[in-house]
Amino acid sequence: GGWRCLGIPAPGAGAVGGAENQRACAGLRLSVYYGGTFDPVHLGHIAVADAACRLLHTSVHIVPSADPPHRAPASASAEQRATMVELAIAGHQGLVCDRRELRRSGKSYCVDTLCGLRAELGGTQPIAWLIGMDAFIGLDGWHEWPALFDLAHFVVVQRPEQSLRSMSAGLQNACNGRWQTSPEALYSTPAGKLYIMPLALRHESSTAIRAGLARHEDVSAYLPSAVAEYIQFHQLYASGV
Ligand code: ATP
Repeated sequence: GGWRCLGIPAPGAGAVGGAENQRACAGLRLSVYYGGTFDPVHLGHIAVADAACRLLHTSVHIVPSADPPHRAPASASAEQRATMVELAIAGHQGLVCDRRELRRSGKSYCVDTLCGLRAELGGTQPIAWLIGMDAFIGLDGWHEWPALFDLAHFVVVQRPEQSLRSMSAGLQNACNGRWQTSPEALYSTPAGKLYIMPLALRHESSTAIRAGLARHEDVSAYLPSAVAEYIQFHQLYASGV
């Protein structure tokens, strides 16, 4: 599992895991990371990050992927997507852009990002990965996915027409016993718990925004204004890719 890259014992094997560890972690602030392609970042993303920031009482680190492994290549460059995230979060207290995946070569696997964060933050720090329901129900397609539960909690956000019922049996089994009804349990253990964040549905989607831009429609209602201006200035997404 994911612990092998950390050189620390697996949960339940002594120092990390179990009641002892719960006490050791009590009082630690949750570190929240929100990964994605952000091609482009939209008001749905920002609303999710702001809500997580308020609800979980901590800052949210937005992590644009350099080379997303689970989808077609992005239209805008990684640098442009990260710049748009920076423009989008200006003035939003508690939101941070984390460019760590841009500094790595090859595919941006979540498991590698979380291993890096574990090495940096230590084995006892509670870490949560913020994720939309559409992405979460496909988690079992991700590289080394079972290790993800050893490395972080998941905070899941509902998206239109997505339901946990469409998870595979394997993923459902892996999720059994992990669901929490309040976020507090995520503060007291380093990883492995799941929580659905209560948030009104947001309908923005980067795919729909790119399609609108390719048809020369006005999509500015779905974008932070600085991002809409950046897209227009650089003529991004105009060719429909
Ligand atoms: P696309 O439409 O191209 O799939 P997207 O809008 O889902 O793009 P991503 O960069 O893939 O954007 O999303 C990053 C993360 O944000 C994912 O976990 C995704 O599920 C989540 N997310 C995106 N849009 C929303 C939304 N409207 N409501 C809740 N979560 C969202």
